[in-house]
Amino acid sequence: MTKILIIYTGGTIGMVNDSQTGVLIPFDFKQIQQNVPEMARLNYHLEVHSFDPILDSSNMNPDIWAKLARIIERRYAEFDGFVILHGSDTMAYTASALSFMLENLAKPVVLTGSQLPIGEIRTDAKENFITALEIAATKKQGKAMVPEVCIYFDYQLFRGNRAIKYNAESFEAFRTPNYPKLAEAGVHLAFFNNYIKKVPVAPLKVHTDFNANIGVLKMYPGITIQALQAVTRSAVDAIILETFGSGNTTTASWFIDCLQEAINAGKIIVDISQCQVGSVEMGKYETSRKLQQMGVVSGYDMTFEAAVTKLMYLMGLGLPVAEMASLMSQSLRGELSA
Ligand code: ASP
Repeated sequence: MTKILIIYTGGTIGMVNDSQTGVLIPFDFKQIQQNVPEMARLNYHLEVHSFDPILDSSNMNPDIWAKLARIIERRYAEFDGFVILHGSDTMAYTASALSFMLENLAKPVVLTGSQLPIGEIRTDAKENFITALEIAATKKQGKAMVPEVCIYFDYQLFRGNRAIKYNAESFEAFRTPNYPKLAEAGVHLAFFNNYIKKVPVAPLKVHTDFNANIGVLKMYPGITIQALQAVTRSAVDAIILETFGSGNTTTASWFIDCLQEAINAGKIIVDISQCQVGSVEMGKYETSRKLQQMGVVSGYDMTFEAAVTKLMYLMGLGLPVAEMASLMSQSLRGELSA
């Protein structure tokens, strides 16, 4: 019998209204089970690992990602697939982080959640949960159909490290603007094999030492030297530079000099675009050629979520800056198209 491990971390899917304050608070897995009697009708062996405490996903952090990766590592041989119930707010970060933590993943790790709690009449939780279980259980010639960390939401399956939460109200909360979806659920589950990773031959290798010492610098017209130096002169080891369009910044010499100073101090700077669709193309305009010349690294079409977690992963490996810079621009887990 197919065996699936459900890891319940929290999120709206399992929340209930607090009778005193009226706000949504996380609640235990039992009420999920009560609201989804269909679980018993699935022909799978299901086991549940419930987090304690149960979290709103805004409280996720690298230690909790590591805990998730370790649970998967410990139970890897026993189960055919893993379904993680998780808040949608930071689901794309957790999915991206796990994709880097779980090298050579050969089994599905499907994250899902919902926009409405499972106890609400119009909830999207049941469909998301049931179909996530089915995806985690699906095999082709005895091997996992989707050996990836992915997100299932609103009838669509996405590569986790390509996803962004782009809508806080619609049931269609996620998109992968720079990568096609991996599957679609209609009457049948349609998998788009050309976009799904192949099952790796090497054994699973888990990396949980993330270094979160990262700064973020978002460009905007009118940015001041004080705002810039608050990041470039801070004690961070790496900076994500969120640029305009295809990777552009102002060419003002004080701005370029501050970035150069940070690079000279041993910081790695990664250029990703504020646009959701498309890629950084360094050197296309004068406004990014200088960045390229000084050694700012292109993040190509990576999401912010992927860039942050990939940097944490590479910095955690303790690699020299030059090697990190080179790996940041390569696809390690299908997170970018260079
Ligand atoms: N605040 C919730 C969370 O991320 C939102 C959700 O689950 O959709 O935990």
